[in-house]
Amino acid sequence: MGIADLLTAFIRVLGLAALMVYGYSWLLRLVHGTWFRNLAVGGLFGLGGMLTMNDPLELSSGVFYDGRNVLLALAPMYSGIWGAVVAALIMAAFRIYMGGVGLMPGLIGMVSVVSVGYLVSRIPKRYLPGELQRSFALAASVGACVMIVIFANHILNTAALRGYISPVIMANMIGVLVLGDFFRREMARLRVFQVLQQEATVDPLTNLRNRRGFETAASQCLHHLPRTSACSVIMLDIDHFKHVNDTFGHDAGDKVLVAVAGLISGGVRQSDIVARYGGEEVAILMPGTRSHDAVNVAEKVRSLIEQASFETEYGTVRVTASLGVAAVETGVLDIGSAIKAADEALYRAKSRGRNRVERFDAVSVSERLFTQQAPAA
Ligand code: GH3
Ligand code: MG
Ligand code: MG
Repeated sequence: MGIADLLTAFIRVLGLAALMVYGYSWLLRLVHGTWFRNLAVGGLFGLGGMLTMNDPLELSSGVFYDGRNVLLALAPMYSGIWGAVVAALIMAAFRIYMGGVGLMPGLIGMVSVVSVGYLVSRIPKRYLPGELQRSFALAASVGACVMIVIFANHILNTAALRGYISPVIMANMIGVLVLGDFFRREMARLRVFQVLQQEATVDPLTNLRNRRGFETAASQCLHHLPRTSACSVIMLDIDHFKHVNDTFGHDAGDKVLVAVAGLISGGVRQSDIVARYGGEEVAILMPGTRSHDAVNVAEKVRSLIEQASFETEYGTVRVTASLGVAAVETGVLDIGSAIKAADEALYRAKSRGRNRVERFDAVSVSERLFTQQAPAA
């Protein structure tokens, strides 16, 4: 194989590696849920294996090398055991379809390499703490595995092929290190992205969504809700919370906030979107719930808070909350208008004595407008 051929072969390998990394990065972002994502990545590795087997490098006449073992070695680490099984099955099926003299040793090699990859991926962190150490361990194990498979097989271990054993082993080891490094970087990038996203949308004190998280989740939820489906929003504000802080201290206030957040989350459905909308103000979006039913839920939450008592360093704290409920008319009202409407109702709950639930409806708005306009006229 001359320099020009080598260069062409190198560019072909690079192209496949780039496709694999691009596909991997895409699946990490697109497929949610570890199980599905692992299966999808396994499928991607299997596809990559087929592509490389279909387009091998010809080291000399009749002697071929492809990158399937690199992908199989990395599959357990980056797609879990079931992803690796998917990758191995796809590649094995394709190898059987291709046939030829090296079929049996090829299949044995594939099973051995994926098993080695799995074993290395399972080594406990205390023995292999660094990701880089694990990559080197994987490369060395794959190199050793490929060597054993070649030496143990009379079809591969021939005088004609012996000269290619070292380059093949080296190519597998370098492939594992380089491609593994790309995958690791993609994984790290995704983790950073997830941490930043969490920090940008979750309130660190109560672990509820923050205002931004609420608005994003709410508009996504409304977007997917059928236009005719009911949807409600509740705004809740703890009564006289300043008094709690002044009497029991800010830390006790924080503790009460966390506990109230827990009561609210526990009192609504899993599919409802709960968020800390302001200091001691919580917003709840209830997809599929009419405002009449939302009033019942609000009443239940109000009663839960009223009945709870919170132990703090300076004594037992009891609080109440006022709640405003409004219907989100999907397709007519946007979430901003619904929150404003629920706020109107909350304001009314406060002015009518607190520790109560009020519902927004259009009549009360026109009444209020009328009474506001009356003095001017
Ligand atoms: P109202 O019944 O009218 O709602 O009275 P309020 O005292 O609850 O309302 P106000 O808006 O006057 O005060 C809200 C208080 O909530 C003041 C603020 O210190 C407190 N607060 C806001 N965020 C936090 C927080 O993160 N921790 C604690 N401990 N207190 C907070
Ligand atoms: Mg308050
Ligand atoms: Mg408030």
